Order: sequence, then C-alpha cells, then structure tokens
Amino acid sequence: MEERDEDDEEFCGVYMVVKQAKIIFVNANLRTSRKHFTIAHELGHHYLGHPLQNGAIICDSDSVFGKNKPEQEKEADYFAACFLMPENLVKRKRTEFFNDCPKQTTLFPADQQLEQQHQLQRYLSDYFEVSMEAMGYRLDELKLG
Ligand SMILES: [Zn+2]
Repeated sequence: MEERDEDDEEFCGVYMVVKQAKIIFVNANLRTSRKHFTIAHELGHHYLGHPLQNGAIICDSDSVFGKNKPEQEKEADYFAACFLMPENLVKRKRTEFFNDCPKQTTLFPADQQLEQQHQLQRYLSDYFEVSMEAMGYRLDELKLG
C-alpha cells in the first residue's frame, strides 16, 4: 500500500464511460468533504451531458473553484453545490443557526458579525458535510455570505 499526501494527487475525480457503464472514480486520498463534492461534481458532468475526451473527463484539484477553469467545470461545480447544499435547506439551517446562536456582547459589532459568519459557515459545513471553502462559495452564491 502506498501512502500519499493530498498534494501529490493526480486527480480529484474522473467520470468515465465504458460501453454502457458510467463510472465515477474519486481519489481515495481526499478528505471526506472533498470526496463528497468531487462525486457530486462528476455526477454533474454526467447529468449535464458534458462531452468526454477519449471516453473520460478527468478533473484535477486545480479545477475545483479555480477562477480560469473551463465552463463545463464551473457548471459541474454549480451542479455539485446545488446537489449537496440545496437552497431551501441552506436557508432553513441558517435561520436555525441564528435563532439558536447566543448573542455575543463582548465583541465590537463588526468583529461580532465576522465571527458569527465564520461560525455559521462552520455549522453549515458540518451539517452538509462539505468543506468550509465549498460552504463559503455556496453562501456567496446565495447572497447569504
Ligand atoms: Zn470536472
């Protein structure tokens, strides 16, 4: 068995079609939250009907949340975000968080807001089992950041 750092990974995920079989590979070295996102991202390539190159779409780590990535990678990310973090549920959990959140009075209002936003992001990323990064991206997208 070979142990590798996450930095060494050649790919995050691959979507592949072999005859009738549609196959998703995910890099076993990724953290669980990253695996979830990658699998949903590959499902996105499938459901959005993206064209394959030599029978596959190979997604490397740079392609997740990169600014200059190809359009179909952005689409697959958006699919994954919607799939893993549905808007209605994000909004409901966000409301629950603010209802349960004890009021902090020791911090200045600006710090308090920043700290609370950070806690919200952590709370939601735990709930949806996605990375903090993915959750932040989704909150921005829904204009809840
Ligand atoms: Zn991809």
